[in-house]
Amino acid sequence: MSSLAVLHASELLTLAGTERPRTGQEMSNLAIIQDGGMLICDGRIEIVGPSDEIEKSRGEAEIVDVGGRVVLPGFVDAHTHLVFAGTRLDDFERRARGETYEQIAAAGGGIWSTVEKTRATSDSDLFEQAKKHASWFLKCGTTTVEAKSGYGLTVNDELKILRVIRRLNDETPLEFVPTFLGAHAVPRDISPNEYIDLVINEMLSRIASEKLAEFCDVFCEQGYFGIEQSKEILTAAKKLGLKLRIHADQLTNSGGAKLAAELKATTADHLEKTDERGIAAMKSARVQPVLLPGSVYALGSRCYPRAREMIEAGLAVVIATDFNPGSSPSPSMPMMLSLACTQMRMSPAEALTASTINAAYTLGRGDKIGSLEPGKLANFSIFDCEDYRELAYWFGFSQAHSVYVRGERVWSGGLRPSAKN
Ligand SMILES: [Zn+2]
Repeated sequence: MSSLAVLHASELLTLAGTERPRTGQEMSNLAIIQDGGMLICDGRIEIVGPSDEIEKSRGEAEIVDVGGRVVLPGFVDAHTHLVFAGTRLDDFERRARGETYEQIAAAGGGIWSTVEKTRATSDSDLFEQAKKHASWFLKCGTTTVEAKSGYGLTVNDELKILRVIRRLNDETPLEFVPTFLGAHAVPRDISPNEYIDLVINEMLSRIASEKLAEFCDVFCEQGYFGIEQSKEILTAAKKLGLKLRIHADQLTNSGGAKLAAELKATTADHLEKTDERGIAAMKSARVQPVLLPGSVYALGSRCYPRAREMIEAGLAVVIATDFNPGSSPSPSMPMMLSLACTQMRMSPAEALTASTINAAYTLGRGDKIGSLEPGKLANFSIFDCEDYRELAYWFGFSQAHSVYVRGERVWSGGLRPSAKN
């Protein structure tokens, strides 16, 4: 038995509370223990409490004195497109010059350019690139990552991406939750109807039988997959036992949030254009909204989703990075906390709840991760600050000091390597 006594956190953010996603006022309660600590045995949390109590019951446990820093659950990133080849630097520069999405696509950019590069990259090269991305997440304090396919768009290339996600789960310290997003775009060389047929009759059955994904997602948007098409794909996925997430109402208020409610999807993601009717529909069907401020920021838009209205309506709001090469090239949850507070008027506490326990529930792991409570996995990060609000306040650099998964230190390299005392 290996055991660890974590001592002297200025604030230990336990996020302890009711065993369900947090809503309304609950999102502001981080259940903080001042000068807090934890006793960890074999990768699981055994006791959480004030440091002097942990010290009394520590026995032979190895001491980790965090020296008055903040300790919090590992971030849970519930929306990423982590596996892709190359970058979209030309698109980035064209956008800076003021070119539109259509002009960029006409010049050979956009999602299709990433699909071509990803198809042309071998399994092992794709894995190496994705492993590098994964290390960036870890350095920002994230320990669980949902990752979508969607840059292959053929049977073999979608399977290739999902197998890379499985390998990342096996060979990196992070836990990955795989989502099939074959309906990300219609490939250029096939008609929409033929492609939907391929997604439903070939991709979904292979993926379900090989258990390569837990969720199915669709880019529900005019010009991509309309409401009826999205419904057809998601209904087929549900029959095969996959749970549902939907890219909804990003560019237009096209009814994606209402479709998520109708299909009892776990999440509706983006929601930049969702109105009060969409919010009410999500509330009645208990769909969790996943807000992605990084893509609004990186696209230079000002249209952030209505986080305040969603919280006030009682939705269990989540924030995630949407890490992808085109519209959100950031793996940093602390950056998302900053955007949530400065652009969406969430409080630092609400943003932390949204990026830990609420996110964990959307991945079906609310009973294992997302808070620091007895029985849960000892996935946590130490941040080089004394007050949790600093996580959202300072921005543009990482304050992460070290990161632990199942009680093992998997990354360390903070600003001040030696403890204060
Ligand atoms: Zn996305």
